[in-house]
Amino acid sequence: MDTCDKCGKPQIIINRKQSGQMLCQDCFIKFIQEKVLKDIRRQKLIKKGDKVLVALSGGKDSVMVLHILNSLRNRRIIDLVAVTIDEGISGYREDGVRIAAQNAEALGIKHRIISFKECVGRTLDEIMVDSDDRNACTYCGVFRRWILNQVAREEGATKIATGHNLDDETQSILMNYLEGNIHNLTRIGVQSESMYEGFTVKIKPLREIPEKEIATYVLATDLPVHLAGCPYAGDSFRAKIGTFLKEISKEHPTIMYSTLRGFDKIKPVIKEKFSQKGSMDICQECGEPSAGKICKACSFRLSWNHE
Ligand code: SF4
Ligand code: ZN
Repeated sequence: MDTCDKCGKPQIIINRKQSGQMLCQDCFIKFIQEKVLKDIRRQKLIKKGDKVLVALSGGKDSVMVLHILNSLRNRRIIDLVAVTIDEGISGYREDGVRIAAQNAEALGIKHRIISFKECVGRTLDEIMVDSDDRNACTYCGVFRRWILNQVAREEGATKIATGHNLDDETQSILMNYLEGNIHNLTRIGVQSESMYEGFTVKIKPLREIPEKEIATYVLATDLPVHLAGCPYAGDSFRAKIGTFLKEISKEHPTIMYSTLRGFDKIKPVIKEKFSQKGSMDICQECGEPSAGKICKACSFRLSWNHE
């Protein structure tokens, strides 16, 4: 019978094919918590006194980030605030918001729920009714970043933590390679470089944890999470790349790690050559940092006023 490599107990819940380790539930939970905290230290993502805003969707990744970072809050190393963006996706987002609130309340963490409707004037569903051929994720991403950046400043947050995992990050790397988006590649990393005043640094504490292990962790710890998929995710290019990576990982269990490691090694060279160091402006409409006179979020909002 297989036994846990750490404590010898017979109930194995995971066979970590990439490292050959077999672990029981208790040892797996401990292993993951320690790994995430070690990654945070090694990459200097957080320093004592930081106030971290967790972008809490209620999905498994952000819920896990909240709970692990809460151990640093309990040790009074950092302060935490959780923010859930309600994009206004009917039949989907309501449960996520409820589960996010449940997690924040259980830990006694301040939680703000902010909707597209109140900040942007329309729900994502309403935006999509008379959208041109842009897909929902474009609007969703632009407005979400815009709102999070403003709330981070209001809250005095020094970092924004997101739930991006190893699968998400390797998908982004591969997608941008395949599409030849070299400029986008220069922006992929464990933390954003806040080159411009007004942008809060974003960190990804789960960047080296595969999605499958996050799913196992939330099951093993019995955390309430929102498991439904967004109705707009559809059959996107990202979804296809995700399926390809999962499939190829079955025969090559370390492939996502090697993709990430290889990318991190060549990134400084790509950055040196391709980084766009254009100057940043202030949006004339909203005062947020912007590449042009009007930021992306405001250019969408203004276009509706002219309809
Ligand atoms: Fe937004 Fe849904 Fe796209 Fe995610 S999948 S970015 S929630 S529209
Ligand atoms: Zn603006």
